[in-house]
Amino acid sequence: MAKERRRAVLELLQRPGNARCADCGAPDPDWASYTLGVFICLSCSGIHRNIPQVSKVKSVRLDAWEEAQVEFMASHGNDAARDAYESKVPPFYYRPTSSDCQLLREQWIRAKYERLEFTHPEKQEPYSAGYREGSLWKRGRDNGQFLSRKFVLTEREGSLKYFNRNDAKEPKAVMKIEHLNATFQPAKIGHPHGLQITYLKDNSTRNIFVYHEDGKVAFPGASDADLVPKLSRNYLKEGYMEKTGPKQTEGFRKRWFTMDDRRLMYFKDPLDAFARGEVFIGSRESGYTVLDGLPPSTQGHHWPHGITIVTPERRFLLACETESEQRAWMEAFRKVVDRPMLPQEYAVEAHFKHKP
Ligand SMILES: [Zn+2]
Repeated sequence: MAKERRRAVLELLQRPGNARCADCGAPDPDWASYTLGVFICLSCSGIHRNIPQVSKVKSVRLDAWEEAQVEFMASHGNDAARDAYESKVPPFYYRPTSSDCQLLREQWIRAKYERLEFTHPEKQEPYSAGYREGSLWKRGRDNGQFLSRKFVLTEREGSLKYFNRNDAKEPKAVMKIEHLNATFQPAKIGHPHGLQITYLKDNSTRNIFVYHEDGKVAFPGASDADLVPKLSRNYLKEGYMEKTGPKQTEGFRKRWFTMDDRRLMYFKDPLDAFARGEVFIGSRESGYTVLDGLPPSTQGHHWPHGITIVTPERRFLLACETESEQRAWMEAFRKVVDRPMLPQEYAVEAHFKHKP
């Protein structure tokens, strides 16, 4: 009997909706929350275990299953749970993937099942509905010194602002949440809570680097653990490559590259405030291609593993230090080239074409 029940649960994993973890999308989940009726991966099951008042977990393969539990799983499952628990996810909310850290996934899981924020928007934490203010240590653009700055997040306006003085009337910068990306970068910033915020200013990309001190809360009532899931997307890839200029006779220079969806930005230093330049990478249908290697006549690169990005306007020549880096970049570029462009991406492309 126990065997039959286990087989029945295993069969439920064959349903298309149950083929991926309900919370992070990892393939082939073999754990389940038998109180929520979802199939989840081992890693997310550890997070569920921390909220026993909401979720009780079992291994599909190792634990014993009761008849009623099997029936519950059969009548619920990941598709039904998505309809129930994710019906009102705010458009700017970051949905974690299986490669994200525990912190991001835990915020998502708690918001979804414990606080029911996406079922009843009125349960969203106060700042989700409006306004939140606090201090972060921000790295000075020129001297690299960290100074305390007031930050204000207003979701009604869809913006994050910061002020150079607490009593300043005008913000130093206004960052639109839709154009903003925040990622934890502890190594780059040299602080365990280091956060890189990338945003658009006058249509070019700017970086700011912030952290808040351990134990100190940046935004009243919430730490950056709450803030980041609302603001962050993953960069597809980051790292050093060499590039040459538009004439392709200038010699190659080492630059720090960041790939944020279709925007490839480069910086002289990973901690620079301004991108030196940006390349928009559209789709194959629109005339973009990524080629393995450099044209045979290319000279002046120190690194041996070349990549050529062809856009309708010009070619961009890049070189990577190792073959594995080259492969990783090629994969990131191909991911966006292979994907058809969305209507709004044509507008972004048009802006890049008209850039001086
Ligand atoms: Zn998972």
